Amino acid sequence: MTVNSYSPEELKKVDPVFGQISFDGHEQIVFCHCKDSGLKAIIGIHNTVLGPALGGTRMWNYTSEWEALNDVLRLSRGMTYKSAISGLDLGGGKAVIIGDSKKDKTPELIKAFAHYVHSLSGRYITAEDVGTTTPDMDLIHTITPHVTGISESLGGSGNPSPVTAYGVFVGLKAAAKFQFGTDDLAGKKIFVQGVGNVGETLVKHLSEAGADITITDITRERVEEIAKKYNTKIYEGNDLYAEEMDIYAPCALGATVNTETIQKLKAKVIAGAANNQLAQEQIHGKMLQEKGIVYAPDFLINAGGIINVFGEIAKYDAQEALRRTENIYNTTLDILNRAKEHNITTHQAAMAMAEERIERKKNEQK
Ligand code: NAD
Repeated sequence: MTVNSYSPEELKKVDPVFGQISFDGHEQIVFCHCKDSGLKAIIGIHNTVLGPALGGTRMWNYTSEWEALNDVLRLSRGMTYKSAISGLDLGGGKAVIIGDSKKDKTPELIKAFAHYVHSLSGRYITAEDVGTTTPDMDLIHTITPHVTGISESLGGSGNPSPVTAYGVFVGLKAAAKFQFGTDDLAGKKIFVQGVGNVGETLVKHLSEAGADITITDITRERVEEIAKKYNTKIYEGNDLYAEEMDIYAPCALGATVNTETIQKLKAKVIAGAANNQLAQEQIHGKMLQEKGIVYAPDFLINAGGIINVFGEIAKYDAQEALRRTENIYNTTLDILNRAKEHNITTHQAAMAMAEERIERKKNEQK
């Protein structure tokens, strides 16, 4: 898996921090080092207009510090828009720890990182991401209160994936309503790519809705298990994008919607959990628009997880988190209608709506 779309050589061509390709007016970038534990981490705070910057900590074996910096800049910016569009009083932030989570992660390293989070006095609040787990968050919680995604026994919200999947399900239904005139999924031919934590629960909802589901995953045992459990078909071909389908639900990797796949795609709706589905937002958003394929913006419909952890900041209320997640249906429809009305891509419409909310708040604060 590559985490960046730029090579280390490309990243080195520009100024080290404020000139970076993914620098976008970030408020604060904190470089953290602890000699004793070996910690090397970067915390990126993109924007705190709406509230404290919340976003997970990714531990990844980056090929260079440039790559780590670019990743934290890109991810923290994404969190600003995800929270803004979801109506959460949260800003955007993210952290990266440089290292292999399987080999280099020690309690000392995680605790050293926690001290840095604490030093920011709540401007940045952390959570899990790739390479970090709920037990890591519990350990961070022994040092600082500025952490979410902790165990339910400690007052946390537990695994966010079921809530994420529910948000994807309602977002997918809204996109179906827009494209087909009905959100009844009975008989709709839906391909779910990736049946991990989120994909499985999405399949459960789709199956209850009577959809005609085909699944695919790189892990054969997983596909067989899920197919048996929810009575779905298994995709046995080798060119999923060219298959006849109503809805494509990417729930594995990013960048699967690109020039090559869009040319083949027969789906009329794209709605799934994967982050960064469009390889290049402007180019591929436009291609989808021209082809009449309705794309439900990923950062909008996969926001159930952040909505869930947001609840932990006050006192976690599972019902309230579900109610907010359910609202993804209305927001998705608003955005699709807006995109049509203004003849812009759905991604642009979603970004504009998020930016408007931030601007409104900024003006109130003046
Ligand atoms: P996961 O790791 O549990 O599941 C991903 C699944 O995709 C795995 O079963 C894996 O085998 C499969 N996969 C990997 N490459 C594949 C390929 N080329 N083709 C088919 N299947 C492939 O992850 P998850 O938590 O279910 O998250 C799925 C996606 O949703 C990710 O992109 C993640 O970033 C995004 N997301 C997740 C959450 C959450 O709450 N978990 C929130 C927001 C976004």
